[in-house]
Amino acid sequence: MSMDTRKLLGKTTADAIKEEIRQETEDLNRKGIVPGLATVLVGDDPASEMYVGSKVKTCRELGMHSELVRLPSKTTQQDLLGEIDRLNRDDGIYGILVQLPLPDQINETVILEAIRPDKDVDGFHPVNTGKLMKGETALVPCTPMGIMEMLSREKIEIKGANAVIVGRSNIVGKPMAMLMLHKHATVTICHSRSRDLPGICRRADILIVAVGRPAMVTGDYIKEGAVVVDVGTNRITSMEQVVELYGSDSPRVESITKRGSTVVGDVHPRDPYGIAAAITPVPGGVGPLTISYLMKNTLVACKLRRGSA
Ligand code: NDP
Repeated sequence: MSMDTRKLLGKTTADAIKEEIRQETEDLNRKGIVPGLATVLVGDDPASEMYVGSKVKTCRELGMHSELVRLPSKTTQQDLLGEIDRLNRDDGIYGILVQLPLPDQINETVILEAIRPDKDVDGFHPVNTGKLMKGETALVPCTPMGIMEMLSREKIEIKGANAVIVGRSNIVGKPMAMLMLHKHATVTICHSRSRDLPGICRRADILIVAVGRPAMVTGDYIKEGAVVVDVGTNRITSMEQVVELYGSDSPRVESITKRGSTVVGDVHPRDPYGIAAAITPVPGGVGPLTISYLMKNTLVACKLRRGSA
């Protein structure tokens, strides 16, 4: 008998998070406190422009202060460090986000470590990474935090579950594993050298995939009744690939004809249906969670510094 697979729409959780933030921000505003996020954009990469634009817009919608610092692509590391120092000392700024990637002349690690840990809303500073590992209050990377919040609101049982995370990046895989461990899952982390990846994945009650390879996880990776979280956002441009993945009668065929590309997750878009109990679709699954959690981290940073968390 085939499973009835539920779609986990991150947007539902993201909207709920944003509404709570809006209300809390309103309360803070009444006390004369305005949580502020500074976003630093170096250069004019179109994808980065788009991400930064939506961060600024969301900030304003939620009653937060937003400062966009635009710097030319030729900016030196020293100049960028100077800008971060200014933002570190600005009392009205509670969160600092440096949009990645940075141009080649700038060392990403040096920059990310220069941000004050209590303003590090991306959760990439080693102080926050260390606190996450120990289970202390910290600013934690937005995508894994958003996923945890979605799983909780969707009433997915984590305690005792076998959680398999595919991908071990510092941004998604590792913090995801740590958060699942804190919630008492039995955690396995896989990567490009893991042997028998499909076999390991088939043991997962909760399978979280953050790899960056279009449709890599097919039906034979998924246990019946598993919950599948697809973090991948891969842009594909081949019509042949779209037809193979979605079928020739899919609306995706029209979208690739119009726009020249379409976004595919790391999980096959059709295979899990009938096998998994639930899956996050791409787009509309994990995507919307990240930005709402960035706003939440800004609010958390504000409340921690003001001593009202
Ligand atoms: P990284 O490239 O930093 O890490 C990818 C990980 O996948 C690595 O650990 C790598 O292993 C592993 N991997 C690569 N190929 C394979 C394979 N064939 N089998 C098993 N593991 C493999 O990526 P990120 O974690 O930054 O991002 C992953 C995906 O998530 C991307 O598509 C990205 O666009 C998306 N993303 C989406 C976000 C959202 O908001 N929706 C936010 C962040 C990312 P190894 O370490 O051995 O090289």
